[in-house]
Amino acid sequence: MIEFKAIEKETVLLNPKKNMEPRKIPSQVRFDPLTGRSARICHFMKLEWEKPDLTDLALESQANCPFCPQYVEKITPCFPPEILPEGRLKQNDMILFPNLAPYDSVGAVATMADRHLAPMTAFSERRMAAAFGLALEFFRRLEAARHPESVYHLVNWNYMPPAGSSVIHPHLQVFATSTAPNLMRQELEAAKTFAKKHNACFWEKLVEHEAANGRRYLGKIGNTHWFMAYAPMGVAGDVIAVVQDAVSTVDLSEKHLLELGRGLQKIMAAYDKMGIYSFNMNFFTGRRQDTFNRFHLVFSPRTFFNQALGTTDIGALRNLYNETLCMAYPEEIAASLRPFFDA
Ligand SMILES: [Zn+2]
Repeated sequence: MIEFKAIEKETVLLNPKKNMEPRKIPSQVRFDPLTGRSARICHFMKLEWEKPDLTDLALESQANCPFCPQYVEKITPCFPPEILPEGRLKQNDMILFPNLAPYDSVGAVATMADRHLAPMTAFSERRMAAAFGLALEFFRRLEAARHPESVYHLVNWNYMPPAGSSVIHPHLQVFATSTAPNLMRQELEAAKTFAKKHNACFWEKLVEHEAANGRRYLGKIGNTHWFMAYAPMGVAGDVIAVVQDAVSTVDLSEKHLLELGRGLQKIMAAYDKMGIYSFNMNFFTGRRQDTFNRFHLVFSPRTFFNQALGTTDIGALRNLYNETLCMAYPEEIAASLRPFFDA
């Protein structure tokens, strides 16, 4: 029912270090089992990077940080009363306010701590669950206000500059939109087609397959299943977490959020050991009525092609063809992540 398609390729080079003996380099083109999007497994290398010392960067950027407690309520804007009468949402040391550079008509930013620099390993499951909970509270307010953009409820996390963050202070992008972003729209359309054709939910079948097959599977936490993407977009693989009993973001309970936080904490500890200190994390949601969908999030570590030069891991291939490359087999990355997941 679900097809895991790959094309094996082989490059032959004459090796100058060994008297021009032929050297064979394997690679693979894989196809995402839902959308058919292609992804290359190539450029094989040891997944090992140097974590820089961020102390100086943190100190320099802290003085003018708009999200630090001394500025955040003076600098950041407020929502109009029809959306949020109190202007901003607060919860302990977290605060949610309108994004000055919104992606859509209702966009927010939520700080995840009053602390300016939080290393990837410093996020507790409770902190992540609480930050996602603050985003959900915002979405519930939009639902209650019957806002026309309250259709798809999205949380994006760009952690650290290599992942596209322009502020060191940890924060989430929180927005609602009636226009699903590209890849999410393609996934939803494909999952709908799959459901019609097979009278089954793609995500349920995928989880079933990954759990039984085991090579990419990391584990189950409550009602969330964690595994590596077959055709990842990240150079060091992508981790997918599927919530088996939620269709959309607004279905998530506090228990789900804690489970997602717990899994993310394990994944971050594992990637931290590879020297990775940056990632993207996105929610993928359907509308409430999209019963063919299951809520899932994707965690994608970000790093460099050349760390000394600051060369980003997104080049022409990805930027203009949306063709991705991963520098190890996802099954091997799963094996290196699993001990952290089981811990
Ligand atoms: Zn700050």
